[in-house]
Amino acid sequence: MKLAASMSRLGTESAFEVLARARALEAQGKKIIHLEIGEPDFDTPKYIRDAAVKALQEGWTHYGPSPGLPEFRKVIAEIWKAERGIPCDWENVVVTPGGKPIMFYLMLALLEPGDDVLLPNPAFPIYESVVDFIGARAVYLPLLEANEFDLDLRDFESKLSERTKLVILNTPQNPTGGVLKPETIEGIAALARKHDFMILSDEIYGRVLYEGKHLSIASLPGMADRTVVLDGFSKTYAMTGWRLGFGIMRKDLAVQLGRMQTNAVSCTASFTQRAGMAALTGPQDDALAMVEEFRRRRDVIVAGLNALPGISCLKPHGAFYVFPNITKTGLKSSELERLLMEQAGVACLAGTAFGTYGEGYLRFSYANSLENIKTALQNISDFLAVRAK
Ligand code: PLP
Repeated sequence: MKLAASMSRLGTESAFEVLARARALEAQGKKIIHLEIGEPDFDTPKYIRDAAVKALQEGWTHYGPSPGLPEFRKVIAEIWKAERGIPCDWENVVVTPGGKPIMFYLMLALLEPGDDVLLPNPAFPIYESVVDFIGARAVYLPLLEANEFDLDLRDFESKLSERTKLVILNTPQNPTGGVLKPETIEGIAALARKHDFMILSDEIYGRVLYEGKHLSIASLPGMADRTVVLDGFSKTYAMTGWRLGFGIMRKDLAVQLGRMQTNAVSCTASFTQRAGMAALTGPQDDALAMVEEFRRRRDVIVAGLNALPGISCLKPHGAFYVFPNITKTGLKSSELERLLMEQAGVACLAGTAFGTYGEGYLRFSYANSLENIKTALQNISDFLAVRAK
């Protein structure tokens, strides 16, 4: 069998590989605390599960329209218009199985070999994977700790050229937990109007925010037509396994992405969409309580990491990740990732899993219980103490 050459350029998410290694150690009887995977450890709130069961009983078990159920698209449009100030109605919304397909569909629909895509580094690895797969060129926008993991507008402008077709933004960020400042978002919007490029704005952590109000670039004047907002239910409602997400975009593009979906998976599961409708229109107490619990854990893990020798950690403003600087341990990120798993029983990810600018960092997900987080911190402390001897 001879695979297409493009397959050699398709990347992956190493979180799943680290998880597999951790599971192999667990099968040998070793205890591992999982701080590698980016999914809430909570159950999906009961009212949402109940809505899915009801939908199944009512017969929402058939194919639906490719871009999503109109009533669900309407609910999404109304809420994102009211809460985020994005001018949209139901025809601007495309519902997908998870937010991820929006990245894939959009880039397949938009990019050609030779196009440039500006994307943050470190960032969610699938962005670059898909850019490479298509044969476009990834141009890095470094997210530096010295700049609180915000983008540098001057650097941004210097990377623009007539080849720039798409810019990918993510706020709050995976893996740094950083949030783009409003003036940065406004500056990028001004450059988009001037240089005429499209933006994929990944706002999947938009509701996992610890201070301030989330600003969507699509809400700024003239930006709705240039922006595809990616969002979904995985993080806010602890629904990773349901596979439910969506994009908000100009109507002509929504038609094209709907066509992509007809070709790929026909549609998103109908009963899942009904559950998503219930998630958005029902009481938001569970979702808010999860964010409060994440905040408690963030404070514990940040304080704990900063107390460790050779490690320093900024306090993240959103998402459920910390991205500590480990350069003073004298170890490379991938080396420390491996040692922590094998010798401290803590699974985490090397910063380099998210790009070259992640060297010198680790990513811990604090979507785990306070008790496990405290044990992990103790284990890491013991490991570093033994090494120092
Ligand atoms: N975007 C970012 C930055 C993520 O971290 C993730 C998941 O980890 C996704 C998108 C995809 O989420 P889903 O496809 O589960 O909606």
